[in-house]
Amino acid sequence: MWAARREAEGSTQGLPAKYAEELQRNILGTVVLPGDPEYNADRMLSNPRFSACPEVIVYCEVEADVAECLRVARALLMAVVVRSGGHSTAGFSSQNGFLIDVSRMNDVCITPEALRAWVGPGTNFGKFNAKLQTYDLHTPGGACPDVCVGGYMQGGGYGFTARIFGMNCDQVEEIRVMLTDGRIVHASADLNPDLFWAVRGGTGSNFGVLLAVKYRLYRGSNFSGFSVRWSMQTDDGTAKAAQSLAWLQENFMRTGAPDTLGYQMIWAFEGPTGQPKEPVLLMRGVYRGSREDLQAVLSPVLDLPGATLQALYDPQPYVDLNRILLSEPYEVPEFPADMTPMPPPEAKISRYVAKPVSADGWKQLLDYFRSSPSPYTIAAMEIYGGAIARMPVRGNAFLHRDVYCDLFFDVFWLTEQEEEQMMQFIKGWEETFAPHWTGQSYQNYPSPDNPGFAEQYWGDNYWLLRLIKGKYDPLNLLRFPQSIAPLEWHPPGPGFPPGFKGFEDPIQAAAG
Ligand SMILES: Cc1cc2nc3c(=O)[nH]c(=O)nc-3n(C[C@H](O)[C@H](O)[C@H](O)COP(=O)(O)OP(=O)(O)OC[C@H]3O[C@@H](n4cnc5c(N)ncnc54)[C@H](O)[C@@H]3O)c2cc1C
Repeated sequence: MWAARREAEGSTQGLPAKYAEELQRNILGTVVLPGDPEYNADRMLSNPRFSACPEVIVYCEVEADVAECLRVARALLMAVVVRSGGHSTAGFSSQNGFLIDVSRMNDVCITPEALRAWVGPGTNFGKFNAKLQTYDLHTPGGACPDVCVGGYMQGGGYGFTARIFGMNCDQVEEIRVMLTDGRIVHASADLNPDLFWAVRGGTGSNFGVLLAVKYRLYRGSNFSGFSVRWSMQTDDGTAKAAQSLAWLQENFMRTGAPDTLGYQMIWAFEGPTGQPKEPVLLMRGVYRGSREDLQAVLSPVLDLPGATLQALYDPQPYVDLNRILLSEPYEVPEFPADMTPMPPPEAKISRYVAKPVSADGWKQLLDYFRSSPSPYTIAAMEIYGGAIARMPVRGNAFLHRDVYCDLFFDVFWLTEQEEEQMMQFIKGWEETFAPHWTGQSYQNYPSPDNPGFAEQYWGDNYWLLRLIKGKYDPLNLLRFPQSIAPLEWHPPGPGFPPGFKGFEDPIQAAAG
Protein backbone atom coordinates (compact mmCIF):
# COMPACT_ATOMS: atom_id res chain seq x y z
CA MET A 1 0.00 0.00 0.00
CA TRP A 2 2.71 2.38 1.07
CA ALA A 3 4.86 1.50 -1.94
CA ALA A 4 1.97 1.67 -4.42
CA ARG A 5 1.02 5.13 -3.16
CA ARG A 6 4.63 6.34 -3.39
CA GLU A 7 4.94 5.01 -6.93
CA ALA A 8 1.70 6.65 -8.02
CA GLU A 9 2.71 9.97 -6.51
CA GLY A 10 6.26 9.77 -7.82
CA SER A 11 7.18 10.79 -4.27
CA THR A 12 10.75 10.44 -3.02
CA GLN A 13 10.50 10.63 0.73
CA GLY A 14 12.86 7.72 1.11
CA LEU A 15 12.38 4.44 2.93
CA PRO A 16 10.56 4.71 6.24
CA ALA A 17 13.25 5.26 8.91
CA LYS A 18 12.59 1.89 10.56
CA TYR A 19 13.47 0.01 7.36
CA ALA A 20 16.38 2.27 6.42
CA GLU A 21 18.04 1.90 9.82
CA GLU A 22 17.53 -1.85 9.86
CA LEU A 23 18.93 -2.15 6.34
CA GLN A 24 22.08 -0.18 7.15
CA ARG A 25 22.59 -2.22 10.33
CA ASN A 26 22.32 -5.52 8.46
CA ILE A 27 24.58 -4.89 5.46
CA LEU A 28 28.25 -4.34 4.76
CA GLY A 29 27.53 -1.85 1.99
CA THR A 30 26.07 1.66 2.10
CA VAL A 31 22.49 2.94 2.18
CA VAL A 32 21.91 6.34 0.53
CA LEU A 33 18.59 8.13 1.08
CA PRO A 34 17.02 11.33 -0.29
CA GLY A 35 18.53 14.19 1.71
CA ASP A 36 21.91 12.50 2.19
CA PRO A 37 24.79 14.63 0.85
CA GLU A 38 25.73 11.98 -1.76
CA TYR A 39 22.17 11.30 -2.89
CA ASN A 40 22.01 13.71 -5.83
CA ALA A 41 25.26 12.44 -7.34
CA ASP A 42 24.48 8.80 -6.59
CA ARG A 43 21.08 8.75 -8.26
CA MET A 44 22.52 9.90 -11.60
CA LEU A 45 23.49 7.62 -14.47
CA SER A 46 26.20 8.02 -17.11
CA ASN A 47 23.70 9.97 -19.27
CA PRO A 48 22.66 13.18 -17.44
CA ARG A 49 19.40 13.18 -19.41
CA PHE A 50 17.99 10.84 -16.76
CA SER A 51 17.52 12.04 -13.19
CA ALA A 52 15.08 9.74 -11.42
CA CYS A 53 14.79 9.88 -7.63
CA PRO A 54 14.93 6.42 -6.05
CA GLU A 55 13.47 5.97 -2.57
CA VAL A 56 16.71 4.29 -1.60
CA ILE A 57 20.05 3.45 -3.21
CA VAL A 58 22.06 0.60 -1.72
CA TYR A 59 25.67 -0.02 -2.66
CA CYS A 60 26.07 -3.76 -2.09
CA GLU A 61 29.48 -5.15 -1.15
CA VAL A 62 28.54 -8.82 -0.88
CA GLU A 63 25.75 -11.14 -1.92
CA ALA A 64 24.20 -11.03 1.56
CA ASP A 65 23.63 -7.29 1.05
CA VAL A 66 21.62 -8.02 -2.09
CA ALA A 67 19.52 -10.57 -0.17
CA GLU A 68 18.80 -8.00 2.54
CA CYS A 69 17.75 -5.39 -0.06
CA LEU A 70 15.36 -7.86 -1.67
CA ARG A 71 13.92 -8.81 1.72
CA VAL A 72 13.05 -5.16 2.44
CA ALA A 73 11.75 -4.53 -1.09
CA ARG A 74 9.51 -7.62 -0.82
CA ALA A 75 8.19 -6.47 2.55
CA LEU A 76 7.23 -3.10 1.05
CA LEU A 77 6.35 -4.47 -2.42
CA MET A 78 8.61 -1.85 -3.96
CA ALA A 79 9.67 -1.89 -7.62
CA VAL A 80 13.35 -2.88 -7.80
CA VAL A 81 15.98 -2.16 -10.43
CA VAL A 82 19.64 -3.15 -10.38
CA ARG A 83 22.57 -0.98 -11.46
CA SER A 84 26.03 -2.19 -12.46
CA GLY A 85 27.66 0.44 -14.70
CA GLY A 86 24.70 2.81 -15.01
CA HIS A 87 24.99 3.02 -18.82
CA SER A 88 21.39 2.13 -19.73
CA THR A 89 20.62 4.34 -22.75
CA ALA A 90 17.01 4.71 -21.55
CA GLY A 91 17.83 5.38 -17.89
CA PHE A 92 16.39 2.05 -16.72
CA SER A 93 18.93 1.50 -13.94
CA SER A 94 17.72 4.40 -11.79
CA GLN A 95 14.04 5.00 -11.16
CA ASN A 96 11.70 5.93 -8.35
CA GLY A 97 11.73 2.81 -6.19
CA PHE A 98 14.48 0.57 -4.80
CA LEU A 99 17.87 0.80 -6.51
CA ILE A 100 20.30 -2.06 -5.84
CA ASP A 101 23.77 -0.97 -6.96
CA VAL A 102 26.22 -3.84 -7.52
CA SER A 103 29.11 -1.77 -8.93
CA ARG A 104 31.29 -2.77 -5.95
CA MET A 105 30.81 -6.46 -6.76
CA ASN A 106 33.54 -6.48 -9.37
CA ASP A 107 35.86 -9.40 -8.66
CA VAL A 108 37.54 -11.08 -11.62
CA CYS A 109 38.85 -14.61 -11.15
CA ILE A 110 40.67 -16.04 -14.17
CA THR A 111 41.67 -19.69 -14.53
CA PRO A 112 44.02 -19.43 -17.52
CA GLU A 113 44.67 -23.14 -17.95
CA ALA A 114 40.92 -23.82 -18.17
CA LEU A 115 40.31 -20.75 -20.39
CA ARG A 116 37.55 -19.58 -18.06
CA ALA A 117 36.85 -16.51 -15.87
CA TRP A 118 34.24 -15.77 -13.19
CA VAL A 119 33.43 -12.06 -13.25
CA GLY A 120 31.32 -9.88 -10.94
CA PRO A 121 28.51 -7.82 -12.55
CA GLY A 122 30.10 -4.50 -11.53
CA THR A 123 33.27 -5.25 -13.49
CA ASN A 124 33.82 -2.75 -16.27
CA PHE A 125 35.50 -3.67 -19.53
CA GLY A 126 38.50 -1.44 -18.82
CA LYS A 127 39.30 -3.66 -15.84
CA PHE A 128 38.23 -6.99 -17.37
CA ASN A 129 40.26 -6.49 -20.56
CA ALA A 130 43.32 -5.34 -18.62
CA LYS A 131 43.13 -8.48 -16.45
CA LEU A 132 42.74 -10.74 -19.48
CA GLN A 133 45.72 -9.07 -21.15
CA THR A 134 48.01 -10.31 -18.34
CA TYR A 135 47.35 -13.89 -19.48
CA ASP A 136 47.23 -13.08 -23.22
CA LEU A 137 43.55 -14.05 -23.23
CA HIS A 138 40.50 -12.45 -24.79
CA THR A 139 36.71 -12.59 -24.85
CA PRO A 140 34.57 -10.16 -26.85
CA GLY A 141 33.44 -7.19 -24.77
CA GLY A 142 32.34 -3.59 -25.01
CA ALA A 143 34.38 -0.86 -26.62
CA CYS A 144 33.62 1.63 -23.83
CA PRO A 145 35.85 0.92 -20.78
CA ASP A 146 33.16 2.09 -18.30
CA VAL A 147 30.34 -0.20 -19.45
CA CYS A 148 29.85 -3.10 -17.01
CA VAL A 149 29.32 -6.80 -17.51
CA GLY A 150 26.01 -6.78 -15.55
CA GLY A 151 23.87 -4.90 -18.06
CA TYR A 152 25.98 -5.40 -21.19
CA MET A 153 25.96 -9.21 -21.24
CA GLN A 154 22.24 -9.50 -20.57
CA GLY A 155 21.43 -7.32 -23.59
CA GLY A 156 23.71 -9.30 -25.96
CA GLY A 157 26.98 -7.35 -25.93
CA TYR A 158 28.58 -6.23 -29.19
CA GLY A 159 32.23 -5.18 -29.56
CA PHE A 160 35.00 -4.95 -32.14
CA THR A 161 35.70 -8.71 -31.89
CA ALA A 162 32.07 -9.93 -31.93
CA ARG A 163 32.27 -10.93 -35.63
CA ILE A 164 35.32 -13.02 -34.73
CA PHE A 165 34.04 -14.82 -31.61
CA GLY A 166 30.31 -14.04 -31.26
CA MET A 167 28.35 -11.72 -28.97
CA ASN A 168 29.46 -11.39 -25.36
CA CYS A 169 26.40 -13.35 -24.15
CA ASP A 170 27.39 -16.23 -26.45
CA GLN A 171 30.59 -16.71 -24.43
CA VAL A 172 28.77 -17.29 -21.15
CA GLU A 173 28.93 -20.81 -19.74
CA GLU A 174 27.27 -20.30 -16.38
CA ILE A 175 25.67 -17.58 -14.30
CA ARG A 176 24.94 -17.07 -10.62
CA VAL A 177 21.70 -15.22 -9.94
CA MET A 178 19.82 -14.14 -6.82
CA LEU A 179 16.10 -14.57 -7.37
CA THR A 180 13.77 -11.99 -5.87
CA ASP A 181 12.82 -14.42 -3.08
CA GLY A 182 16.48 -14.35 -1.95
CA ARG A 183 17.49 -17.80 -3.27
CA ILE A 184 20.78 -18.06 -5.15
CA VAL A 185 20.67 -20.29 -8.22
CA HIS A 186 23.19 -21.27 -10.84
CA ALA A 187 22.14 -21.54 -14.46
CA SER A 188 23.93 -23.23 -17.35
CA ALA A 189 23.13 -25.59 -20.21
CA ASP A 190 22.36 -28.25 -17.56
CA LEU A 191 21.15 -26.23 -14.55
CA ASN A 192 18.02 -24.10 -14.86
CA PRO A 193 18.50 -23.98 -18.65
CA ASP A 194 15.42 -21.79 -19.15
CA LEU A 195 16.90 -19.06 -16.95
CA PHE A 196 20.27 -19.47 -18.66
CA TRP A 197 18.60 -19.07 -22.05
CA ALA A 198 16.59 -16.00 -20.98
CA VAL A 199 19.31 -14.00 -19.23
CA ARG A 200 21.49 -14.02 -22.37
CA GLY A 201 19.60 -11.42 -24.40
CA GLY A 202 16.49 -11.02 -22.25
CA THR A 203 18.02 -7.85 -20.66
CA GLY A 204 18.72 -6.93 -17.05
CA SER A 205 16.40 -6.34 -14.09
CA ASN A 206 14.00 -9.00 -15.31
CA PHE A 207 14.70 -12.47 -13.89
CA GLY A 208 16.86 -11.82 -10.83
CA VAL A 209 20.00 -10.01 -9.69
CA LEU A 210 22.96 -11.24 -11.69
CA LEU A 211 25.76 -11.99 -9.19
CA ALA A 212 28.49 -13.50 -11.37
CA VAL A 213 29.18 -14.64 -14.93
CA LYS A 214 31.48 -17.44 -16.08
CA TYR A 215 33.02 -16.72 -19.49
CA ARG A 216 34.85 -18.83 -22.03
CA LEU A 217 38.17 -17.25 -22.98
CA TYR A 218 40.31 -17.40 -26.12
CA ARG A 219 44.08 -17.52 -26.38
CA GLY A 220 45.73 -14.51 -28.00
CA SER A 221 44.87 -10.95 -27.00
CA ASN A 222 46.81 -9.18 -29.74
CA PHE A 223 45.03 -7.85 -32.83
CA SER A 224 46.00 -5.73 -35.84
CA GLY A 225 43.86 -2.70 -36.58
CA PHE A 226 42.92 -0.19 -39.25
CA SER A 227 41.04 2.93 -40.11
CA VAL A 228 39.72 3.88 -43.56
CA ARG A 229 38.15 7.24 -44.27
CA TRP A 230 35.72 8.77 -46.79
CA SER A 231 35.17 12.52 -46.83
CA MET A 232 31.52 13.54 -47.10
CA GLN A 233 32.29 17.25 -47.38
CA THR A 234 30.86 17.42 -50.92
CA ASP A 235 27.87 15.84 -52.62
CA ASP A 236 30.23 13.85 -54.84
CA GLY A 237 32.21 12.57 -51.82
CA THR A 238 28.96 11.51 -50.14
CA ALA A 239 27.82 9.69 -53.29
CA LYS A 240 31.11 7.75 -53.24
CA ALA A 241 30.66 6.90 -49.57
CA ALA A 242 27.11 5.70 -50.36
CA GLN A 243 28.33 3.50 -53.24
CA SER A 244 30.96 2.06 -50.91
CA LEU A 245 28.35 1.26 -48.25
CA ALA A 246 26.20 -0.53 -50.84
CA TRP A 247 29.25 -2.57 -51.92
CA LEU A 248 30.26 -3.34 -48.34
CA GLN A 249 26.74 -4.42 -47.48
CA GLU A 250 26.66 -6.85 -50.37
CA ASN A 251 30.23 -8.15 -50.11
CA PHE A 252 31.70 -7.50 -46.69
CA MET A 253 29.13 -7.82 -43.89
CA ARG A 254 26.80 -10.78 -43.47
CA THR A 255 29.00 -12.68 -45.90
CA GLY A 256 32.24 -11.97 -47.76
CA ALA A 257 34.52 -10.53 -45.09
CA PRO A 258 36.64 -13.13 -43.31
CA ASP A 259 35.52 -14.15 -39.82
CA THR A 260 38.88 -12.91 -38.52
CA LEU A 261 37.78 -9.30 -39.18
CA GLY A 262 35.59 -7.12 -36.95
CA TYR A 263 34.67 -3.55 -37.85
CA GLN A 264 32.29 -0.62 -37.51
CA MET A 265 31.31 2.10 -39.98
CA ILE A 266 31.10 5.41 -38.15
CA TRP A 267 29.39 8.53 -39.48
CA ALA A 268 30.82 11.57 -37.78
CA PHE A 269 31.83 15.21 -38.01
CA GLU A 270 35.58 15.16 -37.70
CA GLY A 271 38.09 17.87 -36.93
CA PRO A 272 39.93 19.75 -34.22
CA THR A 273 37.94 21.46 -31.48
CA GLY A 274 36.87 24.99 -32.32
CA GLN A 275 37.21 24.61 -36.09
CA PRO A 276 34.54 23.79 -38.67
CA LYS A 277 34.11 20.03 -38.86
CA GLU A 278 33.98 17.80 -41.87
CA PRO A 279 31.39 15.04 -42.26
CA VAL A 280 33.19 11.72 -42.71
CA LEU A 281 32.49 8.03 -43.03
CA LEU A 282 35.04 5.98 -41.09
CA MET A 283 35.68 2.25 -41.17
CA ARG A 284 37.51 1.18 -38.03
CA GLY A 285 38.24 -2.35 -37.00
CA VAL A 286 40.43 -5.15 -35.76
CA TYR A 287 41.92 -8.22 -37.39
CA ARG A 288 43.09 -11.48 -35.85
CA GLY A 289 46.29 -11.94 -37.83
CA SER A 290 49.28 -10.09 -39.19
CA ARG A 291 49.40 -6.59 -40.62
CA GLU A 292 50.32 -8.02 -44.03
CA ASP A 293 47.29 -10.34 -44.08
CA LEU A 294 45.08 -7.47 -42.95
CA GLN A 295 46.39 -5.31 -45.79
CA ALA A 296 45.43 -8.04 -48.29
CA VAL A 297 41.95 -8.38 -46.75
CA LEU A 298 41.43 -4.62 -47.01
CA SER A 299 42.60 -4.31 -50.59
CA PRO A 300 39.10 -4.44 -52.21
CA VAL A 301 37.90 -1.89 -49.66
CA LEU A 302 40.73 0.50 -50.50
CA ASP A 303 39.75 0.23 -54.18
CA LEU A 304 36.28 1.61 -53.38
CA PRO A 305 35.56 5.16 -54.60
CA GLY A 306 36.67 7.83 -52.15
CA ALA A 307 38.36 5.39 -49.70
CA THR A 308 41.62 6.52 -48.09
CA LEU A 309 43.66 4.40 -45.71
CA GLN A 310 43.99 6.48 -42.54
CA ALA A 311 46.02 4.03 -40.45
CA LEU A 312 47.17 0.41 -40.18
CA TYR A 313 48.22 -0.84 -36.77
CA ASP A 314 50.60 -3.72 -36.04
CA PRO A 315 49.32 -6.54 -33.83
CA GLN A 316 49.11 -5.18 -30.30
CA PRO A 317 47.21 -5.70 -27.03
CA TYR A 318 43.47 -5.37 -27.53
CA VAL A 319 43.17 -2.79 -24.73
CA ASP A 320 45.59 -0.44 -26.51
CA LEU A 321 44.09 -0.97 -29.94
CA ASN A 322 40.55 -0.42 -28.64
CA ARG A 323 41.62 2.92 -27.12
CA ILE A 324 43.37 3.99 -30.34
CA LEU A 325 40.37 3.09 -32.49
CA LEU A 326 38.11 5.20 -30.27
CA SER A 327 40.38 8.21 -30.00
CA GLU A 328 42.79 8.62 -32.94
CA PRO A 329 43.17 10.93 -34.71
CA TYR A 330 39.99 12.34 -33.08
CA GLU A 331 37.49 11.02 -30.61
CA VAL A 332 34.09 10.43 -32.11
CA PRO A 333 32.32 12.64 -31.28
CA GLU A 334 34.95 15.04 -30.04
CA PHE A 335 33.54 17.29 -27.31
CA PRO A 336 35.43 20.40 -26.13
CA ALA A 337 37.46 19.58 -23.01
CA ASP A 338 35.64 22.26 -20.96
CA MET A 339 32.10 21.15 -21.90
CA THR A 340 29.75 20.58 -18.91
CA PRO A 341 28.13 18.28 -18.21
CA MET A 342 30.52 15.76 -19.69
CA PRO A 343 29.23 13.68 -21.37
CA PRO A 344 26.28 15.86 -22.34
CA PRO A 345 22.70 14.52 -22.39
CA GLU A 346 22.19 12.07 -25.22
CA ALA A 347 19.45 10.21 -27.11
CA LYS A 348 20.20 7.06 -29.05
CA ILE A 349 18.09 5.01 -31.40
CA SER A 350 18.91 1.57 -32.81
CA ARG A 351 17.71 0.05 -36.07
CA TYR A 352 18.91 -3.29 -37.44
CA VAL A 353 19.65 -3.32 -41.17
CA ALA A 354 18.33 -6.69 -42.36
CA LYS A 355 17.59 -6.02 -46.04
CA PRO A 356 19.76 -4.58 -48.82
CA VAL A 357 19.85 -0.80 -49.18
CA SER A 358 20.74 0.62 -52.61
CA ALA A 359 23.48 3.20 -53.13
CA ASP A 360 20.70 5.80 -53.57
CA GLY A 361 19.16 4.67 -50.30
CA TRP A 362 22.50 5.03 -48.46
CA LYS A 363 22.99 8.45 -50.08
CA GLN A 364 19.65 9.62 -48.74
CA LEU A 365 20.54 8.38 -45.24
CA LEU A 366 24.01 9.95 -45.33
CA ASP A 367 22.54 13.23 -46.60
CA TYR A 368 20.13 13.28 -43.69
CA PHE A 369 23.04 12.72 -41.31
CA ARG A 370 25.01 15.56 -42.92
CA SER A 371 22.10 17.93 -42.31
CA SER A 372 22.52 17.58 -38.53
CA PRO A 373 22.20 20.90 -36.70
CA SER A 374 24.93 19.71 -34.30
CA PRO A 375 28.52 18.62 -35.03
CA TYR A 376 28.30 16.10 -32.19
CA THR A 377 25.77 13.83 -33.91
CA ILE A 378 27.16 10.41 -34.77
CA ALA A 379 25.84 7.21 -36.29
CA ALA A 380 27.56 3.85 -36.25
CA MET A 381 27.04 0.61 -38.09
CA GLU A 382 28.08 -2.29 -35.88
CA ILE A 383 28.76 -4.99 -38.44
CA TYR A 384 27.33 -8.46 -37.87
CA GLY A 385 27.91 -11.74 -39.77
CA GLY A 386 30.82 -14.06 -38.93
CA ALA A 387 30.54 -15.85 -35.59
CA ILE A 388 27.44 -13.82 -34.58
CA ALA A 389 25.50 -15.25 -37.52
CA ARG A 390 26.75 -18.80 -36.96
CA MET A 391 25.05 -19.06 -33.57
CA PRO A 392 21.60 -20.66 -33.75
CA VAL A 393 18.84 -18.04 -33.75
CA ARG A 394 17.17 -19.55 -30.69
CA GLY A 395 20.39 -20.63 -28.93
CA ASN A 396 19.69 -17.89 -26.40
CA ALA A 397 17.31 -14.94 -26.10
CA PHE A 398 19.48 -12.74 -28.34
CA LEU A 399 17.86 -13.36 -31.71
CA HIS A 400 19.34 -10.72 -34.06
CA ARG A 401 21.56 -13.12 -35.98
CA ASP A 402 20.58 -12.78 -39.62
CA VAL A 403 21.27 -9.06 -40.11
CA TYR A 404 23.90 -6.92 -41.84
CA CYS A 405 24.46 -4.57 -38.95
CA ASP A 406 22.96 -2.57 -36.14
CA LEU A 407 22.83 1.09 -37.16
CA PHE A 408 22.55 3.43 -34.19
CA PHE A 409 21.96 7.15 -34.39
CA ASP A 410 23.14 9.29 -31.49
CA VAL A 411 22.39 12.95 -30.72
CA PHE A 412 23.60 15.25 -27.92
CA TRP A 413 22.53 18.63 -26.56
CA LEU A 414 23.32 21.17 -23.84
CA THR A 415 20.28 23.43 -23.63
CA GLU A 416 16.52 22.84 -23.58
CA GLN A 417 16.24 24.52 -26.96
CA GLU A 418 18.90 22.23 -28.43
CA GLU A 419 17.18 19.24 -26.88
CA GLU A 420 13.95 20.07 -28.69
CA GLN A 421 15.85 20.54 -31.94
CA MET A 422 17.83 17.29 -31.61
CA MET A 423 14.77 15.23 -30.61
CA GLN A 424 13.07 16.54 -33.77
CA PHE A 425 16.17 15.59 -35.74
CA ILE A 426 16.16 12.03 -34.39
CA LYS A 427 12.44 11.75 -35.20
CA GLY A 428 13.28 12.81 -38.76
CA TRP A 429 15.93 10.07 -38.82
CA GLU A 430 13.32 7.46 -37.82
CA GLU A 431 11.12 8.61 -40.71
CA THR A 432 14.02 8.66 -43.19
CA PHE A 433 15.08 5.16 -42.16
CA ALA A 434 11.53 3.72 -42.05
CA PRO A 435 11.47 2.27 -45.63
CA HIS A 436 14.62 0.26 -44.87
CA TRP A 437 13.56 -1.07 -41.48
CA THR A 438 12.33 -4.62 -40.87
CA GLY A 439 11.38 -3.93 -37.26
CA GLN A 440 14.28 -5.14 -35.09
CA SER A 441 16.21 -2.97 -32.59
CA TYR A 442 19.16 -3.80 -30.35
CA GLN A 443 17.95 -4.24 -26.76
CA ASN A 444 21.22 -2.87 -25.36
CA TYR A 445 20.35 0.52 -26.92
CA PRO A 446 16.83 0.98 -25.58
CA SER A 447 15.06 4.30 -26.11
CA PRO A 448 12.46 5.39 -23.57
CA ASP A 449 8.89 5.88 -24.90
CA ASN A 450 9.04 2.96 -27.30
CA PRO A 451 5.76 1.02 -27.22
CA GLY A 452 7.06 -1.49 -29.81
CA PHE A 453 10.05 -2.55 -27.70
CA ALA A 454 9.06 -6.20 -27.05
CA GLU A 455 8.63 -7.12 -30.70
CA GLN A 456 11.75 -5.13 -31.68
CA TYR A 457 14.06 -6.72 -29.07
CA TRP A 458 12.73 -10.27 -28.83
CA GLY A 459 10.29 -11.01 -31.69
CA ASP A 460 8.28 -14.15 -30.96
CA ASN A 461 10.68 -15.12 -28.15
CA TYR A 462 8.78 -12.59 -26.05
CA TRP A 463 6.00 -14.93 -24.94
CA LEU A 464 8.57 -17.52 -23.82
CA LEU A 465 10.45 -14.80 -21.93
CA ARG A 466 7.17 -13.83 -20.24
CA LEU A 467 6.71 -17.38 -19.00
CA ILE A 468 10.28 -17.57 -17.72
CA LYS A 469 9.84 -14.21 -16.00
CA GLY A 470 6.67 -15.58 -14.37
CA LYS A 471 8.60 -18.59 -13.09
CA TYR A 472 11.59 -16.71 -11.62
CA ASP A 473 10.07 -13.37 -10.53
CA PRO A 474 6.38 -14.19 -10.03
CA LEU A 475 5.81 -11.09 -7.86
CA ASN A 476 7.16 -8.87 -10.66
CA LEU A 477 9.37 -7.13 -8.11
CA LEU A 478 11.90 -6.29 -10.84
CA ARG A 479 10.01 -3.88 -13.02
CA PHE A 480 10.60 -0.78 -15.14
CA PRO A 481 8.93 0.70 -18.23
CA GLN A 482 10.31 -1.94 -20.64
CA SER A 483 10.54 -4.95 -18.34
CA ILE A 484 9.08 -8.29 -19.37
CA ALA A 485 5.50 -8.76 -18.17
CA PRO A 486 5.27 -12.08 -16.27
CA LEU A 487 2.91 -14.87 -17.29
CA GLU A 488 2.00 -17.80 -15.08
CA TRP A 489 4.64 -20.49 -15.60
CA HIS A 490 3.78 -23.83 -17.24
CA PRO A 491 6.60 -26.10 -18.42
CA PRO A 492 7.04 -25.89 -22.20
CA GLY A 493 5.95 -28.88 -24.29
CA PRO A 494 7.42 -30.21 -27.55
CA GLY A 495 7.76 -27.78 -30.45
CA PHE A 496 7.34 -24.75 -28.17
CA PRO A 497 7.48 -22.22 -29.73
CA PRO A 498 7.60 -23.25 -33.42
CA GLY A 499 11.20 -23.97 -34.41
CA PHE A 500 12.38 -23.92 -30.77
CA LYS A 501 14.88 -26.73 -30.19
CA GLY A 502 15.34 -26.44 -26.44
CA PHE A 503 17.71 -24.34 -24.40
CA GLU A 504 20.90 -25.30 -26.18
CA ASP A 505 24.42 -23.99 -25.72
CA PRO A 506 24.90 -21.74 -28.76
CA ILE A 507 28.64 -22.35 -29.11
CA GLN A 508 28.24 -26.13 -29.02
CA ALA A 509 25.19 -25.98 -31.27
CA ALA A 510 27.08 -23.79 -33.75
CA ALA A 511 30.02 -26.18 -33.69
CA GLY A 512 27.85 -29.29 -34.10
C1 LIG B 1 28.99 5.19 -23.62
C2 LIG B 1 28.32 3.88 -23.93
C3 LIG B 1 28.98 2.97 -24.74
C4 LIG B 1 28.38 1.74 -25.05
N1 LIG B 1 29.04 0.87 -25.87
C5 LIG B 1 28.46 -0.31 -26.18
C6 LIG B 1 29.10 -1.25 -27.04
O1 LIG B 1 30.22 -1.03 -27.53
N2 LIG B 1 28.46 -2.41 -27.30
C7 LIG B 1 27.24 -2.72 -26.77
O2 LIG B 1 26.73 -3.81 -27.03
N3 LIG B 1 26.61 -1.85 -25.95
C8 LIG B 1 27.19 -0.67 -25.65
N4 LIG B 1 26.53 0.21 -24.84
C9 LIG B 1 25.23 -0.16 -24.31
C10 LIG B 1 25.45 -0.99 -23.05
O3 LIG B 1 25.82 -2.29 -23.40
C11 LIG B 1 24.16 -1.09 -22.26
O4 LIG B 1 23.78 0.19 -21.87
C12 LIG B 1 24.36 -1.97 -21.03
O5 LIG B 1 23.11 -2.38 -20.58
C13 LIG B 1 25.11 -1.25 -19.95
O6 LIG B 1 25.34 -2.07 -18.85
P1 LIG B 1 25.74 -1.38 -17.46
O7 LIG B 1 25.79 -2.44 -16.44
O8 LIG B 1 26.93 -0.53 -17.67
O9 LIG B 1 24.51 -0.40 -17.23
P2 LIG B 1 23.28 -0.39 -16.21
O10 LIG B 1 22.54 0.85 -16.57
O11 LIG B 1 23.74 -0.53 -14.82
O12 LIG B 1 22.44 -1.67 -16.59
C14 LIG B 1 21.72 -1.80 -17.79
C15 LIG B 1 20.45 -2.64 -17.55
O13 LIG B 1 20.77 -3.88 -16.93
C16 LIG B 1 20.20 -3.97 -15.62
N5 LIG B 1 21.23 -4.56 -14.74
C17 LIG B 1 22.48 -4.08 -14.53
N6 LIG B 1 23.16 -4.89 -13.73
C18 LIG B 1 22.35 -5.90 -13.39
C19 LIG B 1 22.51 -7.06 -12.57
N7 LIG B 1 23.65 -7.30 -11.92
N8 LIG B 1 21.45 -7.90 -12.44
C20 LIG B 1 20.28 -7.66 -13.08
N9 LIG B 1 20.09 -6.58 -13.87
C21 LIG B 1 21.11 -5.70 -14.04
C22 LIG B 1 19.82 -2.54 -15.25
O14 LIG B 1 18.74 -2.47 -14.36
C23 LIG B 1 19.49 -1.94 -16.61
O15 LIG B 1 18.16 -2.29 -16.99
C24 LIG B 1 27.09 1.45 -24.53
C25 LIG B 1 26.41 2.38 -23.73
C26 LIG B 1 27.03 3.59 -23.43
C27 LIG B 1 26.28 4.58 -22.59
